[in-house]
Amino acid sequence: MRYLSRLFQPVITIPKNAKIKNTEITCKSQKLLLECGLIRPTSAGLFTILPLARRALDKLEIQIRSCIEAAGGQRMSVPSLTVAALWERTGRLQAIGPELMKMEDRHGKKYLLAPTHEEAIADLLADVGPLSYKQLPLLLYQISNKYRDEHRPKHGLLRSREFSMLDAYGIHSSEDCALTVYHTVTQAYAELFRRLQLPVHRVAAPSGDMGGSVSHEWQLPAPAGEDQLSVCSRCEHASLDPTDTCSQCGADTETRSSIEVGHTFVLGSKYSSPLSALCTPPSGAPQPLIMSCYGIGVTRLLAASLEALSSDKSLRWPAAIAPYTVIIIGPKEGSKEWQSHGADAIQRLSERIADTHDDDVIVDDRHHLTIGKRLMMADRMGYPYIVVVGKASLERPPRYEVYCSSAAAASVRLLTEDELLGLLGAAGAEDHDEIKTSA
Ligand SMILES: [Zn+2]
Repeated sequence: MRYLSRLFQPVITIPKNAKIKNTEITCKSQKLLLECGLIRPTSAGLFTILPLARRALDKLEIQIRSCIEAAGGQRMSVPSLTVAALWERTGRLQAIGPELMKMEDRHGKKYLLAPTHEEAIADLLADVGPLSYKQLPLLLYQISNKYRDEHRPKHGLLRSREFSMLDAYGIHSSEDCALTVYHTVTQAYAELFRRLQLPVHRVAAPSGDMGGSVSHEWQLPAPAGEDQLSVCSRCEHASLDPTDTCSQCGADTETRSSIEVGHTFVLGSKYSSPLSALCTPPSGAPQPLIMSCYGIGVTRLLAASLEALSSDKSLRWPAAIAPYTVIIIGPKEGSKEWQSHGADAIQRLSERIADTHDDDVIVDDRHHLTIGKRLMMADRMGYPYIVVVGKASLERPPRYEVYCSSAAAASVRLLTEDELLGLLGAAGAEDHDEIKTSA
C-alpha cells in the first residue's frame, strides 16, 4: 500500500508575482505542477519530473505505446546524440541551427542532442543496405527525451528545452504505401485522444522545416496555447487559417487558442535521398525510400491536458493518466470515528480497493490533519476518486463519502463498501474494455 506521508511531493506556496529559479510562471499547468510538488525547475526550460508526475507520464506512455503498436509500430531506441555531419547532408544544420543543442567530443567530432531523428533513421536504413519492397512498410518508433535550444523557454512543460517525445518513422516503397500507413497512424492518434477524452482537432498544416507532401497538426484548444485555431460552431471542422466561415459547411467559426500536441508528415525522399537510404523495387535499380514521420510531445501533451481540463486552483487529469486513481482519507486522530475503527478499518478498505486497482490507490495517512484540510488538498491534486472515512462510517453498515472529480457537477455520494467497490470496479472495467477493443 502507498502512503501519502511517505511520498516525495515537495509542495510549495508561491507568492503572487514571485520568480522561481529564472522561471517565470506563465500558465496554470506550470503553476499547479510546481505548487503541488509534481515538477521542479533546475534551469531555464529544464525540469525535474517528480514521482507523481512521473507516474502520470508512465501511464500516458503506456496509452501511446498501445495505440502506436496497434498500428504496427515496433519500438526501438536511437542514441540522443546524433552526428552533426548527417544534419549537414540534409541541410537542416543550417536551416534550424540556432535551435539545436550542439556539442563536440574530445576528438573534436561534432554532435547534436537531437530534437528529432529523421537523419539517424535514414542513416540506419542506409547502413543496413537496400531494403526489398517485400519488407515494407515498416513503422519504427521510440519514446525518448529530445532537446531544443528554445530562444525563450516558457509555459513550463509546454515549451521546455528537454522534453519526452514519441517519434515514429514509416518506411515505404512508394507514396501510396506511405499514405496507407499515414491513414493507419492517423486512426491510432484519434484512438489515443479518444481514450484520454481530449477534444483534439486534426488540421491541415504546412510542412515547414520538415519538408514533404502531406502534413497535419493535432491541436488541443486551451488558454495557454500559442496557436490560433478556427473551429466551426456547427460541424467542429478546425483550421489554422484565420477564417470567419467554415470551409466545410459555411457556418460561423470561433477562434480559440490552441496547443500543438502532435504532428504527422509524409516526408517523401527528403531524408532518404541525401543519406542514400534505398529500396529495391520489383524491377529496376534501387531508389530512395519514401519516409513518413509521426510525433507526439509526451510531456507537452501531459501539460496541455492539464491546461485544457484544470481550473486555476485545481488540477484535473484525463482519468487514464491521473497519478493515482483513488485516494483514501481516514478520520482525524482522536475523533469518534478514529476511536471506533482507527487505522485497521482504513487498511482493510484500502486493501480491498487495491484488489481491483492494483497499486493505483494511495492512503492519506496524515491523520493529525483534519479531514477538511486533506480533502481540500486531494481535490487540488485532482484524484479521480476521493474516498473519505467520515461520520457515516460509524453507521451499520458503514458508509463512505465518495467524491468523483470527473463527474460533471462536483457531487458527493454516501456508499457502502460493496457499492464503492462496484463503482470503482465499473470504472476500471471501462478502461480495460477500451484497451481490449482497440488492440
Ligand atoms: Zn462546419
